[in-house]
Amino acid sequence: MALIVQKYGGSSVADAAGIKRVAKRIVDTLKSGTQVVVVVSAMGDTTDELIDLANQVTPNPPGRELDMLLTAGERISMAVLAMAIADLGVEARSYTGSQAGVITDSVHGKARIIDVTPGRISEALAAGAIPIVAGFQGVAQATKDITTLGRGGSDTTAVALAAALGADACEIYTDVDGIFSADPRRVPKAQHVPYITYEEMMELAAMGAKVLHLRCVEYARRFNLPIHVRSSFSDRVGTWVMSDAVLKEKKVEQPIISGVAHDLSEAKITVVGVPDKPGNAASIFEAIANANVNIDMIVQNVTTTATSSTDITFTCPKTDREMAVKTLEALKPTIGFNSVEFDEDIAKVSLIGAGMRSHPGVSASFFRALASADVNIEAISTSEIRISVVIRAGQTDAAVQAVHTAFGLDGSGEAVVYGGTGR
Ligand code: ADP
Ligand code: ASP
Ligand code: MG
Repeated sequence: MALIVQKYGGSSVADAAGIKRVAKRIVDTLKSGTQVVVVVSAMGDTTDELIDLANQVTPNPPGRELDMLLTAGERISMAVLAMAIADLGVEARSYTGSQAGVITDSVHGKARIIDVTPGRISEALAAGAIPIVAGFQGVAQATKDITTLGRGGSDTTAVALAAALGADACEIYTDVDGIFSADPRRVPKAQHVPYITYEEMMELAAMGAKVLHLRCVEYARRFNLPIHVRSSFSDRVGTWVMSDAVLKEKKVEQPIISGVAHDLSEAKITVVGVPDKPGNAASIFEAIANANVNIDMIVQNVTTTATSSTDITFTCPKTDREMAVKTLEALKPTIGFNSVEFDEDIAKVSLIGAGMRSHPGVSASFFRALASADVNIEAISTSEIRISVVIRAGQTDAAVQAVHTAFGLDGSGEAVVYGGTGR
């Protein structure tokens, strides 16, 4: 009997009606002869509301307590969903991440899964019950404390469980019909993408397309597990995320450009007047790494001959900005730079496509499209299959739209967004 893991995002279980609709979908899957394990997110915008609550109490909630608070969101939805399934005459058993065997490291707020031991899930399956697992959470191996996997982390719970259980596929149910050539909330002419490789999806996710959590795609690639991203509000076929080799076997023709992503969640930090000598960049980024801050773009200015110093700029998540600035301030006496500055009014816009490897001129067309939308570029970074720029946040829509049109990605219809608030 085939086994699939189905993950339902917050917008799919936003209220009682949504939960009943999802329960029916799960029971129908079982009745069609497929074993199913469910992973569920918190209802609607619950996680954001819990973060707002914590911030009303203190600007700096301790990581351990914030994780304990946030995991309550998924605990509510898993229990209510299990009740809705029971109401349809099928037994369902809800499990916290810890009960489901999701073992992580001890980094609160962005823990990594280090092992999955889903003994109780297998037992429930063997007993003919549907296991419902709270997404986004685990238990730290070292401290035994409850952890969260970072925003959007339920996707990763689903893929990690699917891999550990040897499932045939992982279905990610959300509020759009799959992956599009840009965020359909911002670009109504975004086109549906039927297939995408793990590599391209990893770049899209890393560059802000929050439809899939980055680590979930990394995990799926490692285990060669197909992901099917689709809407829980329709029966349309969604997007299959698969390996390049499988797509070649299926003779799926891959487009040169797969999409445009934008990210408003990053801040730009500049260390001003760093003495230009070997070891300073190493000291700066070692300290940042030790503070568990993930950085993305790095730009170093040309050294001015008069002062023999330079500026080093990088981007990091806004949620890590305070920690990054504090860490750098502490280094000031040792390195002897002038100051640390930050800017949160930025956006990152990226163009992604495996065809970039073999098609020259993509960067030039990208910059030309931004120029014609009057968008100024503040930093640039590239990978083999991606080009990204930092721009003013207020110009995000104009930039994304201009690039989408310039690369011929505009579709003829309008992309449907079924639910969610886009928060
Ligand atoms: P869920 O609550 O189901 O986890 P998310 O809000 O995390 O849903 O992800 C779905 C949202 O991702 C969509 O509503 C859409 O606005 C956004 N999104 C961003 N980029 C893309 C893209 N390229 N394709 C599809 N959706 C995208
Ligand atoms: N509820 C968590 C969040 O909003 C996890 C998830 O939805 O994947 O980030
Ligand atoms: Mg999500």
